[in-house]
Amino acid sequence: MIYLDYQATTPVAPEVAEAMKPWIAEKFANPHSPSKWGREAAAAIEVARGQVERVIGLGGGSLAFTGSATEALNWALKGTIEKAPDGRNRIITVATEHAAVLDTCEWLTGQGADLTVLPVAKDGLLDLADLERELDDRVLLVAVMLVNNEVGVIQPVEQIAKLAHGAGALMLCDAVQGLGRVGIPAGPDLVAVSAHKIHGPKGIGALWMRDGAEPAPLIHGGGQERGMRSGTLSPALCAGFGTAASLAAQHRPDDHEHVARLWAAAVAALGPGWTVNGSTTERYRGNLNIRREGLDGARLISDLRDIALSLGSACASGSGRPSHVLRAIGLSDREARSSLRLGFGRYTTEEELVDACQRIDAAARAQETIAA
Ligand code: PLP
Repeated sequence: MIYLDYQATTPVAPEVAEAMKPWIAEKFANPHSPSKWGREAAAAIEVARGQVERVIGLGGGSLAFTGSATEALNWALKGTIEKAPDGRNRIITVATEHAAVLDTCEWLTGQGADLTVLPVAKDGLLDLADLERELDDRVLLVAVMLVNNEVGVIQPVEQIAKLAHGAGALMLCDAVQGLGRVGIPAGPDLVAVSAHKIHGPKGIGALWMRDGAEPAPLIHGGGQERGMRSGTLSPALCAGFGTAASLAAQHRPDDHEHVARLWAAAVAALGPGWTVNGSTTERYRGNLNIRREGLDGARLISDLRDIALSLGSACASGSGRPSHVLRAIGLSDREARSSLRLGFGRYTTEEELVDACQRIDAAARAQETIAA
């Protein structure tokens, strides 16, 4: 199989699997128990916490592990609303956010929050003037992602945070697709991340919180994570996340160069007739979202079963609904259904990517011949 679905999830790094093994096979103690073994597990969790904090790279805050980035985003949004001062109940977000943000915000409107969803331009970027116009002293939180999971577009998070702070609001950044790939800019007060997008295990995410911006707890119970997120932590998952984070920091310059080279090779191998969806400059190059006039994307995916790629987001793919992100950048339903998302990274070889792109192009042209 040629794996080109790095935005859905990434292959687990061999070093990560190695780091997790002892905590699965032998060291089973509860990290919250006071025994020698429990303390050893707790120490491993603290090492991992430091590794994840370092790759996030923002000072003056703390990090709590969660079960996923979806949980971290739910916590950030719901817990911030819960602590809101009187009169501040507005949330501003963007039409191209992940469902973990959009659906949670929508749910919060039923709890009294006032929601504004800003549009994006054809290149997928938020117009800062639109945000400025919406900001007032009732805005509690501005939630904008760093790198888009469907089209790879990078939002100007630093300027967004500045504008939010100017209105006395907090800024939440979904940095799931940006972590370890592009630097996380200064400014956000809350940052959600996930291990499985950086060659770590599934089932663990984290919320980084600037001091003083901690949301109210979402999960109550045994008081783990300084009382902010109850539930026994998994030393194996934490150690895997920590190792993945430290590898991401170590490999970042090489990974960056590698995906830039892969991007150029993929575009050349596809040849003419393909259009890139979203900005080609403000973009993470491990994401190539493309469309072709008249293409039936779903059919192409079923024709090329040994290539793993996606129609839009992993979640949208199964539903048959065209992607809300592609619609938000102005594509028609038809254009959205003629789009493919290729995601590649550290373990993708140029050879396999070129082979896949040539076969994708040939399969697309074959559809045109049959249709003609
Ligand atoms: N945010 C973005 C941008 C994502 O791509 C994803 C995963 O697809 C998530 C949030 C949710 O992450 P998790 O799988 O850890 O819940």
